[in-house]
Amino acid sequence: MERIDIEVISQLEQLIKSSTKSIVLVPHMHPDGDAMGSVLGLWRVLLNYGLKVKVVSPTKYPEFYHWMDGHERVIIFSQHPKQAARAFDESDLLICMDFNQLSRLGDMKPLVENYKGKKVLIDHHPYPGDFTDLVISDVTCSSTAELMFSMLQSTGFAPFVDRKAATSFFTGIMTDTGSFDFNVSDPRTFETVAQLTRLGINQLDIHSKVYDNFSADRMRLLGFCLSNRMTIYPEYHAASMLITLEDQKAFNFVTGDNEGFVNMPLSIKGVVFSALFTEKDKYTKASFRSKGEFAVNEVSEKYFNGGGHRNAAGGELYASIQETLAQFEKVLPEFEEKIKQSINNEQ
Ligand code: 5GP
Ligand code: MN
Repeated sequence: MERIDIEVISQLEQLIKSSTKSIVLVPHMHPDGDAMGSVLGLWRVLLNYGLKVKVVSPTKYPEFYHWMDGHERVIIFSQHPKQAARAFDESDLLICMDFNQLSRLGDMKPLVENYKGKKVLIDHHPYPGDFTDLVISDVTCSSTAELMFSMLQSTGFAPFVDRKAATSFFTGIMTDTGSFDFNVSDPRTFETVAQLTRLGINQLDIHSKVYDNFSADRMRLLGFCLSNRMTIYPEYHAASMLITLEDQKAFNFVTGDNEGFVNMPLSIKGVVFSALFTEKDKYTKASFRSKGEFAVNEVSEKYFNGGGHRNAAGGELYASIQETLAQFEKVLPEFEEKIKQSINNEQ
């Protein structure tokens, strides 16, 4: 039943319990629901247990997560670098969650790289990096939040998982599975949700706080992009969408407003591969999603300096948005066979 060897879980428990100073929990930059759900869930449990624990995020995260338990205590490195550095200095254990490479920390990378205390990685992405003393990785797990919650069950921290922690862990599972739309082939995910439900979480409320909290501008931007910035490539069962800086200005774009855009084309009949390119000041952010066996992390690793999961990946290209789109269109034919194979295997 255990995903991770009990010995390894026990090592983690010992590391946490032997911390005499404080513990710092770190999500990846531009944290998503799973990164925040994992760190804030564990933060609450360790706090309940009586430990000193802080969350330091490399960058800010979308407002639709600002309701989460502990959110107001999160130290944002990009806004308060000194406070972040102090939290690192005062601690003796660092737990990195929901990422597999130091590059996912952006400008905060040196702080973690040069950290003097013990380091742990807890993650579910393929190819976990070797930058911590202990690596706990399960790529079969829907989310880091699910992995964390299930490991806690076999530790002395189990009685300290309360409704607040459960709410954070559920947020991670819900967002990383697109509200139980993908990455949910393992029945254990639903067993975990059943356990979280017994802890008193309110799924409808959590769902509503995350997904029914967008601005009218964001909704109009989505409509605009669907009408004017989406291209369908029927022969490749693919679609792309762009959000230029000009579009962002026109629709008062704020962090997180493009959340979910990349999934939209996947509801078009025949489309199994979707790409979203968001223009930034100095680079273009790429997001990829797929349905079925076609692995978008391969595309992202090979051509967009990124990585991720089979059905959800991303990357960054130091090129204009038009050049990035051109690159995408140029490499599409290379993946034609794999896309078609994946569709045939589904049938
Ligand atoms: P999103 O499209 O939501 O930004 O990212 C989807 C998934 O792709 C993330 O959960 C993460 O695993 C991965 N990902 C996104 N951006 C990057 C990136 O710049 N580098 C790497 N290695 N992975 C990324
Ligand atoms: Mn995740």
